[in-house]
Amino acid sequence: MTRTTPAAARPTVATVYGYPRQGQNRELKKSVEGYWKGRTTADALRATARDLRRSNWQQLADAGITEVPTGDFSYYDHVLDTSVMVGAVPERHRAAVAADPLDGYFAMARGTQDVAPLEMTKWFDTNYHYLVPELGPDTVFTADSTQQVAQLTEALGLGHTARPVLVGPVTYLLLAKPAPGVGADFEPLALLDRLLPVYAQVLADLRAAGAEWVQLDEPALVQDRTPAELTATARAYRELGGLTDRPKLLVASYFDRLGEALPVLAKAPVEGLALDFTGAAAANLDDLAAVGGLPGKRLVAGVVGGRNIWINDYEKSLSTLATLLGLAGRVDVAASCSLLHVPLDATAERDIDPQVRRWLAFARQKTAEVATLARGLALGTDAIAAELAANRADLASRAGSALTRDPAVRARTAAVTEADGRRAQPYAERTAAQRAHLGLPPLPTTTIGSFPQTTELRTARADLRAGRIDTAGYEDRIRAEIREVLAFQEQAGIDVLVHGEPERNDMVQYFAEQLTGYLATRHGWVQSYGTRYVRPPVLAGDISRPDPMTVGWTTYAQSQTSKPVKGMLTGPVTMLAWSFVRDDQPLGDTARQVALALRDEVGDLEAAGTAVIQVDEPALRETLPLRAADRAAYLAWATESFRLTTAGVRPDTQIHTHMCYAEFGDIVEAIEDLDADVISLEAARSHMQVAGELAGAGYPREVGPGVWDIHSPRIPSVSEATALLRKGLGAIPAERLWVNPDCGLKTRGWPETRASLENLVEAARQVRAEV
Ligand code: GLN
Ligand code: ZN
Repeated sequence: MTRTTPAAARPTVATVYGYPRQGQNRELKKSVEGYWKGRTTADALRATARDLRRSNWQQLADAGITEVPTGDFSYYDHVLDTSVMVGAVPERHRAAVAADPLDGYFAMARGTQDVAPLEMTKWFDTNYHYLVPELGPDTVFTADSTQQVAQLTEALGLGHTARPVLVGPVTYLLLAKPAPGVGADFEPLALLDRLLPVYAQVLADLRAAGAEWVQLDEPALVQDRTPAELTATARAYRELGGLTDRPKLLVASYFDRLGEALPVLAKAPVEGLALDFTGAAAANLDDLAAVGGLPGKRLVAGVVGGRNIWINDYEKSLSTLATLLGLAGRVDVAASCSLLHVPLDATAERDIDPQVRRWLAFARQKTAEVATLARGLALGTDAIAAELAANRADLASRAGSALTRDPAVRARTAAVTEADGRRAQPYAERTAAQRAHLGLPPLPTTTIGSFPQTTELRTARADLRAGRIDTAGYEDRIRAEIREVLAFQEQAGIDVLVHGEPERNDMVQYFAEQLTGYLATRHGWVQSYGTRYVRPPVLAGDISRPDPMTVGWTTYAQSQTSKPVKGMLTGPVTMLAWSFVRDDQPLGDTARQVALALRDEVGDLEAAGTAVIQVDEPALRETLPLRAADRAAYLAWATESFRLTTAGVRPDTQIHTHMCYAEFGDIVEAIEDLDADVISLEAARSHMQVAGELAGAGYPREVGPGVWDIHSPRIPSVSEATALLRKGLGAIPAERLWVNPDCGLKTRGWPETRASLENLVEAARQVRAEV
């Protein structure tokens, strides 16, 4: 390897942009939820928050992080905090915020009885959700730096070198949407000149409070940007850079390469850039050389992946850092993005084999890696010889492990042929076979899979875990639930039944727990939104299916009814999207392994007499790469893995898929490439618009645009559903239209489930009579 010798007299700074917020025992979640329920006072909540910040900074400092972030802490969401900082409080929330800033803040996040919350959406291609700023031509920004200044003051008071982290002005505007009542063609970026003076004020306040550096996060610049957006970016940083009363500015980007935004930022009059050098963003290295580097500036190099949970490859990172030394005035070391996206501490995972645990790096381990790399860069590799040796051994153990290299799995994936992903007959021919096989009426009715996950079901699972009931007792309860779900569907007159998924804790975890190569964590909580945390499983090794996973429950359900029962699986793309993925092989290879395991399940379901099998892919669109140029390659492996899962069945076996969103204009072709027979989609909220879009795009297959918005407790009336169905018929012929809800019913209660489905069946009957 390259031997790095001491770089400079100045010690290399080790830093991160953010840290998990919830605390070791999810104290923040408990405290915030306690406050909502009136069990915790505002003062107690503030004290919990202060303690958490203090202990996070101390953890960082103890791990060797020499410049800690401030302002990354949030009660709910840092984009919402930014809206508060710039005074962008929607009209409907102003009174609440004026009455009590904390309650008003939570009202914006969650809504109240009378007032709707801000919309929530995914933070780039992560599973973190932020609250979307609502802006319009009348928006007036006002600076409120209270929170940022208070957190900086706390950290400085504790003796830390601290750097406030803010969402940058360009990204803030690019993430915003037109406020209700403002035309959809309004572009929030038009407000840039109004917003910059507010940022100028916040920067001045932070400088007065003692900030030497302030970080402005601009991840929106790693997406494809128009020339006008790049020009606005240049103007923003020319203006902020030109201020006299300001701290030094570090403009940060992450999640991908900066591309055409790199020369814009490199030329801007700011003192530093923070760039991601992991994964696809490694292209930043060549791009930086191509623009002549950052002479005289600070470069913060994100070489430790902030989004995955794998240990770093020290030698590789050190070689990147060594190259960067020649490209910037000063190089510091960081994680590629905020550590918000990873769990807190891998050492807490006592159930994971200690050897395997050594491959894992959660937030705590990542901060140690950053500190080690910074020491290696500053003092030379000899100074970190022990860490390097241990790192090399752990990487070798991972690469050579039977878990990551299962010869049977590898032989099987290598033998996959084009034909394995193709059904024996084209759609047009097999649809006739399916009709004969299933004997369904026109406009057949079905559901998306899950039925209400009642407290009794959750209690049964908890009882099983705690040993209060045994497996046999648990399975009795599940069978009783399945019988009840089937009895209701038969009585309601639904055509294609489901077993209701009562045995599933989660649509990904349920399968992950049964597949070899997947790890579950005990404490691996990651913030999804607000106080909601998820525990994604880890795709750690080669994937295989030791035993059937759903066949028992599905065949039990089929044995109770003469109507067809639909088998229900989670598709390979979603299995990857909602897990931590391997970083030691292409995503497409992992997807292919998962697909082959699922293909066996599909085959077993069919052999057991299942005539309809649904493979859910709600995540197909959300993992679409940020850059358009990368999308074709993604969609190629994504659709291939779906076909590999499903294409082995007979022509008369009907394959369904399901996706929970309406905006799929950019993936219609990919949906067609799945070669499924039937697709169910969200449509109720968008008033059947998708039916027209699919028809317009020439989608030739069967479609079930949802006619019940299951995200709302409202019961759709018969006339509402018939109106939607008639609208659907305007775009899709009767022999290709299905009648179903938008999504699964696990979050709904039984009363509205009963009433809504009965109305749906009645609506289908009425509309059938018209065709
Ligand atoms: N089959 C799953 C269910 O009904 C689908 C869930 C989803 O689309 N997110 O719950
Ligand atoms: Zn759904």
